[in-house]
Amino acid sequence: MGWYLARQRLAKREKFPLIVELEPLFQCNLTCSGCGKIQHPDHVLNRRMPVEQAVAAIEESGAPMVSIAGGEPLIHPEIHTITAELLRRKKFVYLCTNALLLERKISKFKPSPYFAWAIHIDGLRERHDESVEREGVFDKAVAAIGVAKERGFRVSTNTTFFTHDSPKTVREVLDFLNDDLGVDEMMISPAYAYEKAPDQEHFLGVSQTRKLFSEAFAGGRRKKWRLNHSPLFLDFLEGKAEFGCTAWGIPSYSVFGWQRPCYLMSDGYAASYRELVETTDWSSYGRGKDPRCANCMAHCGYEPTAVLQTTKSVKQSLRALAG
Ligand code: SF4
Ligand code: SF4
Repeated sequence: MGWYLARQRLAKREKFPLIVELEPLFQCNLTCSGCGKIQHPDHVLNRRMPVEQAVAAIEESGAPMVSIAGGEPLIHPEIHTITAELLRRKKFVYLCTNALLLERKISKFKPSPYFAWAIHIDGLRERHDESVEREGVFDKAVAAIGVAKERGFRVSTNTTFFTHDSPKTVREVLDFLNDDLGVDEMMISPAYAYEKAPDQEHFLGVSQTRKLFSEAFAGGRRKKWRLNHSPLFLDFLEGKAEFGCTAWGIPSYSVFGWQRPCYLMSDGYAASYRELVETTDWSSYGRGKDPRCANCMAHCGYEPTAVLQTTKSVKQSLRALAG
């Protein structure tokens, strides 16, 4: 990533993607009430992005990393081919999954230093099953993590927090993933208040998010967890740092095209990353600018700002390297 950022600077490119959120389908085998992706009509849910289209979009963007999400990517019949083609091009790939199909599909994938599963775990058993609205999903996800690790895969997790969470539940799930399951790295996020999500009551506001994370991270806990975020982004979640959104840094490409302005909001689509960058009024998005951004502290908007600020500061770079 450091080398990629240096190359962008040398080329004097002002806007470039750090990671692309690739959504090759919107269909899922779960119906979580906080989800803003599965409300499309059936003819959209039935669409599958062809391999060539997915690979061409990533190549055009030049992004070094790809997070494949959806919907549930493992429903896509060619997801292993999309993944393999991206790995062949030396892209780092995170495959985000609820893990229900992982054991059935794992033989189609090969371990690689460029590849990691990113398994959705929103809490311990009761909390996770409540979040995904189906009993038994937590146990299946935990079993799938074991199988993936046994087969030599790198395994990360992705945990979204809502108002039902407390500092205690945040600590419990991160301790479990870090210490008991030994996953390689963990990603965390406050849930974004999708307008389409059926459950509108449990999205965290900014002050609630800061309180939740500052209390959960207290007592030096933050350092012991293998969190896959820059220290500056974690400071931001805790309320120790404040900065604007850089939505062009983690853009989203789906069956509709490049989504404007980000993975979370859709103000239309562009045919290429270049077109997205050049035809979007980026200054009109972010907290204090667009009411839909008011409670957003999501990774896709604020981690790019944190990463770009980190690379401009020797002190922050040393902190990031120290982990
Ligand atoms: S698993 Fe993910 S994509 Fe599927 S319904 Fe839940 S939040 Fe949405
Ligand atoms: S703040 Fe940025 S990342 Fe969040 S919804 Fe608005 S544009 Fe998207």
